[in-house]
Amino acid sequence: MERILVSACLMGRKVRYDGAAKTSGDALLATWRQEGRLVPFCPEVEGGLPVPRPAAEIEGGAGGAAVLAGAARVLATDGSDVTRAFLAGAQAALAVARSFGVKVAILKEGSPSCGSLTIYDGTFRGRRLPGNGVTTALLELHGIAVFTEDRVADAGERLRELEGA
Ligand code: SF4
Repeated sequence: MERILVSACLMGRKVRYDGAAKTSGDALLATWRQEGRLVPFCPEVEGGLPVPRPAAEIEGGAGGAAVLAGAARVLATDGSDVTRAFLAGAQAALAVARSFGVKVAILKEGSPSCGSLTIYDGTFRGRRLPGNGVTTALLELHGIAVFTEDRVADAGERLRELEGA
């Protein structure tokens, strides 16, 4: 049975920067949870950041690959540089994904860690740009397909392909 890495906040865990969850009501996700397929994970908490914590964005909305390459930092609203924690969280996510043989992930859109289509532009003004987060960039680099919480059905298609159904 294929396992699926999923953002912990989508599974109701209160791990977001504001101390809240972003629980998904997706029926397919609920089915997978019952089947024991899901591996909930929060890269920011596992990277050592507290809950709650100041919101963070990638400098210039540069995207996760730029952070992995050392070309952009992740900065918090209080001015602190949290790049190291984001990189540690991404590595921890990859390690967990590998340990479960994960090939598909469903991660929270817009996050500087978990976003896969859009991230914020680094100005803390609520503006989004096309781009991905640090964890997503690392997972994709290692061949793991990342889907947003709005594309669970697409993740299901991928899963069926993998399982040969
Ligand atoms: Fe959710 Fe990912 Fe942010 Fe953790 S890092 S709170 S899993 S979006």
